[in-house]
Amino acid sequence: MTTYNNPQQQQDCLLDSRLSALSQLRQPVWIYDIDNACVAWANTGSLEIWQADCLDSLRRRDLRKDMTQTVEKRLRQYQSDFVRDETKQFREVWTLYPNGEPTTLEVVYSAFRFNDNRMGMMCEALPDLQFDNDTLRSAEALLHTSVLITLYSNDGVPLYRNPAARSAVRDYSESLLDHYVSGETVRLLQCSTEDEINTVASVHTTNGKRWHDITARRCRDAVSGCDAWLISEVDVSRLKATEAHAQFLAEHDQLTGLPNRNHVSVVFKDRVDQLLAQNQRGAVIFIDLDHFKNINDSLGHEAGDKLLVNVAERLKTIAPGENAVARLGGDEFLMLIGPVASDNDARETAARIKELLSLPVTLQGRKVHVTPSIGISLFPSDGRSINDLMRHADLAMYHTKDNGRNDFAFFDRQLSHAVESRINLESELLTALEENQFVTYFQPRVDIRTNKVTGAEALVRWMHPQRGIVGPADFIPACEASGLIGRLGKQVLVQAVSAQQKWLKMGFDTRISVNLSPMQFGEDSLVEDIIDIVRGHNGSPEGIELEITESVLLGHDHKTIDKLHALVNHGFRIAIDDFGTGYSNLAYLHRYPIRCLKIDKTFMSQLATAQPIIELIISMAKLFKLDVVAEGVETMEQLEVLRAYDCHEYQGYLFERPIDFASFTALVGIGSKPVIA
Ligand code: C2E
Ligand code: CA
Ligand code: CA
Repeated sequence: MTTYNNPQQQQDCLLDSRLSALSQLRQPVWIYDIDNACVAWANTGSLEIWQADCLDSLRRRDLRKDMTQTVEKRLRQYQSDFVRDETKQFREVWTLYPNGEPTTLEVVYSAFRFNDNRMGMMCEALPDLQFDNDTLRSAEALLHTSVLITLYSNDGVPLYRNPAARSAVRDYSESLLDHYVSGETVRLLQCSTEDEINTVASVHTTNGKRWHDITARRCRDAVSGCDAWLISEVDVSRLKATEAHAQFLAEHDQLTGLPNRNHVSVVFKDRVDQLLAQNQRGAVIFIDLDHFKNINDSLGHEAGDKLLVNVAERLKTIAPGENAVARLGGDEFLMLIGPVASDNDARETAARIKELLSLPVTLQGRKVHVTPSIGISLFPSDGRSINDLMRHADLAMYHTKDNGRNDFAFFDRQLSHAVESRINLESELLTALEENQFVTYFQPRVDIRTNKVTGAEALVRWMHPQRGIVGPADFIPACEASGLIGRLGKQVLVQAVSAQQKWLKMGFDTRISVNLSPMQFGEDSLVEDIIDIVRGHNGSPEGIELEITESVLLGHDHKTIDKLHALVNHGFRIAIDDFGTGYSNLAYLHRYPIRCLKIDKTFMSQLATAQPIIELIISMAKLFKLDVVAEGVETMEQLEVLRAYDCHEYQGYLFERPIDFASFTALVGIGSKPVIA
C-alpha cells in the first residue's frame, strides 16, 4: 500500500495527466473528492467560482462545514450512481456556497475515477444561465426533497429521477413495470383516463419491498414533448405497518392470539364463499368447553386463561392452515375445514378435537380434565352463509350438551328445531323476569281432621303476553338449565312474603310454603338472599316453609347441608317435596333438620297399589315426629284413606286448585266468600 507524507502529496498522486487537457478549458471545471469533501483539482475558471486565490488554498478547504446532511447524502448518491454506470451524466442546478455565499450554477456531473480507484466526480459549470428565484428554489427543492420524483415516458422508461428516487430505486433504468411488486398499479395507469391517480402500492427498493403512496400525473416531457408520467412517491410503510397492526388487533383475540369473531365474519365468510364458488364442500365446527366456569370458579381466572391458551394451541395443531380456527369469546371456538371429500372428514376432525382436548392439562400443579362439546354444520347442505353455518353448528353443539356433553353432533334440522326453541325460550324468560310476567298462585294446604286451611303453597305461573297462563312444568327446567332459576325463586319469594303480610294485616295468619330448586343451592348467597327478602318484606322465617327435593340431600355436598342448617337456625322450616319418588331411604331423614314430608301425588293417583307405601311413609314420618302432607288429593276416596292412616294435612283439587292472590283471599274468608269449614 502506498504511504503519503502529506494530504497534498496524496491528492497529487490521485490526479493524472487527464487533467492537463482540462486546465486549458476556459469553462469552469473541477474535480470533487466525495469521500474527503474537498475539491481535488480545479481549473482557473473554476477558481473564480469558488472564490479561491489559488488551487492549493481551495484544496485545503473543508467543504463539509457548509454542507447539510442531505447534500452529503445526495453526493454519496452520485457516487454510487457513477459506480453503477460510469458513463452516466447528470445535469442539475446546484447552489454552491464558496466562503458561505450562495452561487447557483447549472452543472454537468460525470464520473471521475482517482488513481486509487475511488469514485469522485467531474463538475462542469455551464455558461450563462439566468434563473429567477422561484426556478432556483424549485430546482433546489427537487434535489433535496425526500419525495421520490420520477418522470417516465408513456411506455414506462425512466427519463429523470431526482436524487431521492435514484437512491431508492434498485436500478436507475428500472422501468415503471419493474418498479411495482404487482402489475396492478401499472394497469391502473394504463387504463385510467384521469389526469391524476392516487394509490398506495408495494414497490421494489434498495431497502426491499416498501409501501409507497403514489401520485401519478399526466404531463409532457419538456425535452421531447412526448406524453409522460410524473410520479411522486412517499414511503408509507410505517403507516401501513401500524394500520396492519391495528387491523390485526381488531381481528384477533388478545389472550390466545387466535382470530376473533370479527375475523370470522370477514375471512371465514370469504373462505366459505370461495369454496362454494368452486363447488367444494366444507364444514364449520363449533367447540365449547364443558363446565369451563367451574375451572374459573375453583382455580381462578388466571388458570382459566391458561387453559384457554392451551386449548387454542391444541386446536391450531389440528386446524388446516393458520387462520382456520378462531375464538368466538369465552370458551367458544370455531374451526373451518374445507374442501372436504365427505362428511367423514368432518367427523374425523371432530373426533380428533375431542380426543386432543380431553387430554389432561396441568393448572397450578393440578391435573385438570376438560372435555369439549362439539357441533358440526356442513356446507352447502346445512347453509351457504357463514352466519347460518355458525348458528347451525352452535345448535348442533347444544344438542351435544343436552346428550351429556364430551361428544360431537352434526346439525339436524329436526333436532335443532327443539334446541332452537329452547334457546328462544331462555331469552323470553329473561324478558319475563325483567318485565315481571311471573305471578305467584297459592294452593291451600288443609287440615284433614278439621278441613281448615293451614297454609298455602306458592306456585308460580307465567302470564305470557301471547300464550296466556303457562304452568311451571313448561319453564322451570329451562330456568334451571339457563341459571335463571335463582332470580325466579327470589321473585316468587317476594310475592309470597308480600301476600302473607297482606293477609296478616287482614287478620289471616298463615304459613307459606315456597319451592326451592336444587340449582338454587349452588348459589353462595342463597341463605342471605332469602333472609334479606323475608326481613325486607317484614316477614319472619318461622312463618315460611321451604320445600326441597330429596336430591338436594343426596348430593352429600357440605355446602348444601351447611345452608340447610343455616336456614333452620334462622327459623325456617324445611319440607321434603315429592317424597317417595326418589331415593326414599327413610333412615337418612333423621340426619337432616327436616320438619315435614309431602307425599308425592303419584301415590294418590295410583291409590289401589300405593296404599302400603302411603301407610309406611305416614308411620315413618310419625316415628321421626315429622308433619306429613298428602299432595294431589282429587277424590273423597283418597281423602278417606289418608284420614284412616291419620295423615295430618292434604293439598289437592278436591279442596282447591292453585289460585291467585285475590281468589285465595276470598277463599279464606277475608274477602267476600265464607270460610270453608
Ligand atoms: P310441586 O311442588 O309438587 O307442586 C304441586 C303441583 O301439583 C302443582 O303443579 C299443583 O298445581 C299440582 N297439584 C295440586 N293439586 C293437585 C291435584 O289434585 N291433582 C293434580 N294432578 N295436581 C295437583 P304446578 O303448579 O304445575 O307446579 C309444578 C311444579 O313446578 C311444582 O311441583 C314445583 O316442583 C314446581 N314449581 C312451582 N312453582 C315453583 C317455584 O316457585 N319454584 C320452584 N323451584 N319450583 C316451582
Ligand atoms: Ca312443592
Ligand atoms: Ca310436590
